[in-house]
Amino acid sequence: MAEIARRTTSIGNRVMFLIHRREVLNQAVDTFKAQGVDQSRLDAGMVQTLTRKVDRLPEPKLILVDEAHHALAKSYQRILNKFPNAHVLLFTATPIRTGRRQMDEVADDIIVGQSISDLTKQGFLAPFDYYSIDDIDADKLKRSSTGDYTNASMDEAVSRKIYGHIISNYQRLADGKQAVVYTYSVESAKRIAKAFNKANISAVEVDGSTEDNIRDHYVKQFRDKKIRILVNVNLFTEGVDLPDVDCVIMARPTQSLALYLQFSMRCLNPREGKQAIIIDHVANWKTFGLPDSDRDWKNAIISKDKNSKRKKNDEPTFAITQCDYCFAVVPSSKVKDGKCPMCGKPIKVHAAVEQTDDQLKLINDRKRLINDILNDEVMQNVANKSVKELHTMKELQAYAKLHKYKRGWVYYQAKMKGLIKRK
Ligand SMILES: [Zn+2]
Repeated sequence: MAEIARRTTSIGNRVMFLIHRREVLNQAVDTFKAQGVDQSRLDAGMVQTLTRKVDRLPEPKLILVDEAHHALAKSYQRILNKFPNAHVLLFTATPIRTGRRQMDEVADDIIVGQSISDLTKQGFLAPFDYYSIDDIDADKLKRSSTGDYTNASMDEAVSRKIYGHIISNYQRLADGKQAVVYTYSVESAKRIAKAFNKANISAVEVDGSTEDNIRDHYVKQFRDKKIRILVNVNLFTEGVDLPDVDCVIMARPTQSLALYLQFSMRCLNPREGKQAIIIDHVANWKTFGLPDSDRDWKNAIISKDKNSKRKKNDEPTFAITQCDYCFAVVPSSKVKDGKCPMCGKPIKVHAAVEQTDDQLKLINDRKRLINDILNDEVMQNVANKSVKELHTMKELQAYAKLHKYKRGWVYYQAKMKGLIKRK
């Protein structure tokens, strides 16, 4: 963006630069300066500020819009409509909006940038491991007129067990790492922070009502690693400079891909040797795949027909598998020899059966298993169930036998489901 602005001002043309958040304005202007943009030909500012004085602004040749998925909002439209002769370049990492109206209302075309997986390969983003502990009853989620879930329905859908699970899984998967938690309500944020502190892991809660100076103080303490966990509601999505976040914990279900990617990518600032950890407690991956899943952005910018509801089979499908053992969520292509790439335990993938020398043994094992199933009522009962639908020790044991899981799995699951007491 800065280079485009430099070239434009260098031949005597004016540039306008629109930004969404106060926090990043100074940082962006500094970058523009460092890049050699002629400041006398630049009008940079927050949308909310510029839209108020739009009548007094000199006409630019070029308008650059940051976080441009907001560009359909009235404040942006006022500015863009005022200068119909300007060239407009809209920048966003998520060129998609929740709901029917899409970016084609303001953009003629899309130029797709590098994908997350390409940027990771080149070292601009840190690689990540993704885990999912399902603490949500998605059937209870209801969408509001904005397209995302209502607060009341999120409160109802999220299991009360999430508080214990967030702590135990942070300890299991990311112990000691700097983590940001995204949650759905101030009350849940406070409870999560409290639970962390009770486990002697320093945590603070911040939300929209937190005073600026207190929030800045907490952010500084987090940056200085005096605080381990930052729990927030609807903050830290766009534009806050928070380096050194190595773990993201999601306790906020969403229908917004932009929000999902902002949550996930919060921990992907690269650093030598870093492996980020994403722990999803609300099954967002089932809606959006993994953060680096391939997406059809060209199609995403086309507004949906008013009258046609999106069909179920229009939804993207992702070749992704979850390990019932360690709860890792991985691309199916990474599963080799039926083993989870994270923990090495058997993992179910709907793929072709391997042709190996051990085939005879497999067939015999299978025969024995089928016999077991036929002779065991509980096993028959659990054969077509998912882990979520198992409610007793017996069912867990039968399921483990069916999938050749070890006793540790039964123990862990039983603990998660509250069938046995935690230590
Ligand atoms: Zn695993």
